[in-house]
Amino acid sequence: MKNKVLLRTFGCQMNVRDSEVIGGLLQKSGYQLCDNDRDAQIIIFNTCAVRKHAEDRIWSLIGAYKGKKIIGLVGCMAQNYKERAFERDPDVSFVVGPQDIHKLPEILGKIKNKSLLERKIWETDSKLRPEKIYHQQFYQDKQHAFIVISEGCSNFCSYCVVPYVRGGLRHRKPEDILNEIKTAISHGISKVTLLGQNVNAYREAGVNFAKLLEQVNSLAGLKEIGFFTSHPKDAGQDIFKAIRDLEKLAKTLHLPVQSGADRILKLMNRGYTAKDYLALVDSYRKIVKDGKLTTDVIVGFPTETQEEFEETCALFKKVKFNSAYIFKYSSRPGTEAAKICETLKPEEIEKRHKKILDLQRKISKDLRQ
Ligand code: SAH
Ligand code: SF4
Repeated sequence: MKNKVLLRTFGCQMNVRDSEVIGGLLQKSGYQLCDNDRDAQIIIFNTCAVRKHAEDRIWSLIGAYKGKKIIGLVGCMAQNYKERAFERDPDVSFVVGPQDIHKLPEILGKIKNKSLLERKIWETDSKLRPEKIYHQQFYQDKQHAFIVISEGCSNFCSYCVVPYVRGGLRHRKPEDILNEIKTAISHGISKVTLLGQNVNAYREAGVNFAKLLEQVNSLAGLKEIGFFTSHPKDAGQDIFKAIRDLEKLAKTLHLPVQSGADRILKLMNRGYTAKDYLALVDSYRKIVKDGKLTTDVIVGFPTETQEEFEETCALFKKVKFNSAYIFKYSSRPGTEAAKICETLKPEEIEKRHKKILDLQRKISKDLRQ
């Protein structure tokens, strides 16, 4: 019997939720989930492809199991590599993209009964997931649930691999989302976080994101609601007012800025200027008194000058984020930014990364005091 599965999850909250979906599906099909690699016969890596560093780490982790386990590569990296994954590491037995995870029980059924040499299956062609996979009520936490409201992204920020591996933006129906949450509440969940790559762009069956928040807020038994990620080009006063007025909504906003320099923002295809961003922050702070604000930023985008980097630092000093995720630019094959030949030296990116990290640490500390 090869029925014990270890699921290892990397990357964002969307992946955390996807792993719950996979876990629920496998349990229903008679698999036992375990939390250590000693007992497991099958190890599934639910992976991230946003930065090269994440991919390298996963390949090296997979390498450690050479010949000892059945290995599955699932999620964004699987979609990125497709069948090339078998060339990269012949120990990988199955490769399943984010839009194909509902096929995993069937795939495992086939894999288990095959000899080592025959074990090669890949599924990376689906465009959509069946809605029913979200309704298994399998959540890692007893009180808190991540709720997917939209999948994919159509923004094509020039550095980003997400639209390629997760497909174009599509939304779940409001009633499906509300039904999932209502059932979750009846199972003891009291906090939810709504997830999407760009939640502010939510629009389905006449319901926009502000309206959806209102509907979720009105669910009896629910105590706390959070959401991310917001995109500055789609965020606006209706959302800020919802944060102010809806009593269950956390008074915090994650609004990734990515850069404080207009030329870089344009090259990134972000659709706003630093001035637009600052005006948005101003509006948020006027409407949501004492609201928290967090962000993402990328340092060392191709051709970023020292002056442009300083502009990002200046924006950080002006805005004073409560916290920030600071990333070193990572070139992703197939993206528009990867075509820009003039790149920065790793040492330079490292230097800028450290500088803005120190700056933000100081700002966060000052705000806490
Ligand atoms: N949809 C969200 C998050 C996407 S990925 C958004 O648009 O904000 C999370 C973060 O990873 C991004 O906000 C960005 O800061 C970072 N990121 C994405 N691609 C990257 C790359 N190629 N190199 C470095 N950081 C990247
Ligand atoms: Fe990537 Fe931009 Fe979409 Fe975020 S909005 S997932 S950064 S393409």
